[in-house]
This record gives sequence, C-alpha cells and structure tokens, in this order.
Amino acid sequence: MILVLLGPPGSGKGTQAKKIVRDRDWPQLSTGDMLRAAIAAGTALGREAKRYMDSGSLVPDQVVIGLIRERTEQPDAKAGFILDGFPRTVPQAQALDQMLQSRASKVDRVVLFEIPDEELVRRLSGRRTCLKCGAMYHIENAPPEKKDVCGHCGSELTQRDDDRPEIISKRLKVYHEQTAPVAEYYRKQSKLRTLDALKSPDEVSLALAETLAR
Ligand code: AMP
Repeated sequence: MILVLLGPPGSGKGTQAKKIVRDRDWPQLSTGDMLRAAIAAGTALGREAKRYMDSGSLVPDQVVIGLIRERTEQPDAKAGFILDGFPRTVPQAQALDQMLQSRASKVDRVVLFEIPDEELVRRLSGRRTCLKCGAMYHIENAPPEKKDVCGHCGSELTQRDDDRPEIISKRLKVYHEQTAPVAEYYRKQSKLRTLDALKSPDEVSLALAETLAR
C-alpha cells in the first residue's frame, strides 16, 4: 500500500502516520523530518533547506523529489509506505507518479485532512517538540507534566522555528496556493478520500482505518 496523507501543517498527518506505522509494516516517510535531520546533521542540503523552511516557504521540488526517490528505494519501503508532507506541489505529485510507474507501482490511496485555518493556528502555535526523542506536546491540549520538559526523556522542549505566528500564516498561504491543487490532482484520478481532522486523534484514527479498509 502506498498511502499519501495530504493536508495543511498542523492537521494531524504526522500523528496519524505514526499510529499507522505502529499497526502495520509501512514506514512513515516525512520530508519535513528528513529535512530537519539534514539540518541537524549540518549537511549542505540541510543548510540550503533551512533558508526556505525558516521563512515558511517550500524547499525546491528537485530537492524533496530526490530525497523521496532515495528513501523509497530502501528495503523497508518494499511492502509500501506512508507519505506525510509529500507531495506538496503538483510537479511533486507528477514526479512521484512517474517514479512509481517506472517501478510498476502506483499511489493507492490519498487521504485529505480537512480543517479550518483558525484551528491550525491554535494547534501550531501551541506545539512543543522534544528534539531528543521526537515526543510532541501542546501547551493546552497535551501539556507536559513539568513545563517545557519532556515527560519521556527529560530533555527541554522547544518550539519549532517555523511554528512562530508570522511564519504560520505564511505556511498556510503556501498550503492554499501550492498544496491544495494536489488534492484536485488526485481527485481527478479518483484516489482522494477526505476526513474531518477537527475531531479527536482517536476519532480521526478510526475514520482513517475505515477509509483504508474500503
Ligand atoms: P513539515 O514538517 O511537513 O511541516 O515541513 C516543514 C517544512 O519543510 C515546510 O514548511 C517546507 O519548508 C519543508 N518541506 C517539507 N516537505 C516539503 C515538500 N514536500 N516540499 C517542499 N518543502 C517541504
């Protein structure tokens, strides 16, 4: 199964992808995580990507297409994978189709997470992450027991640079202009399903499982 989770930043794609990974044998391929790993490792690619990410813009298509091409060739992606945050532009979706076609494969399902912008601003601005173990918190919805300290590993929690208010609105604008057309692209291929991402994570998981079973 090759599954694409599509939706604006903060809609819960990453959270749901992690849940699916726990239940099934498909790795979660998140271009955002790959780019942050490249930044942390101090690679040339990471340094180039950081300029775009910090300003809320998209990293050039060729960079992320290259990352996905390499990653999907790894043995653990043979039985399928979940794409989280890719494709984010129509050219990326086209490149993915071509890449998979050349391997006699295809995207099986695309699930669009629908949610109003106001809720995204609330979610993203309250999000806190542990850089060491990846645990995620929200200052109102899922606060850590001790302020700014990870309950799993005791490290300090941080706010992502691009979760600051002025960058959030830029990211949402980029989503509506460049990523929303990707939903149309898949709708035309009759692969698109939608779900209400305003619901609780457990309710969204259920809706997602039902969509995948159909
Ligand atoms: P995310 O963690 O998915 O919200 O991604 C964080 C940032 O990484 C985005 O705001 C973009 O700058 C960059 N990024 C992640 N995935 C892509 C992609 N598929 N295409 C272009 N830029 C991306």
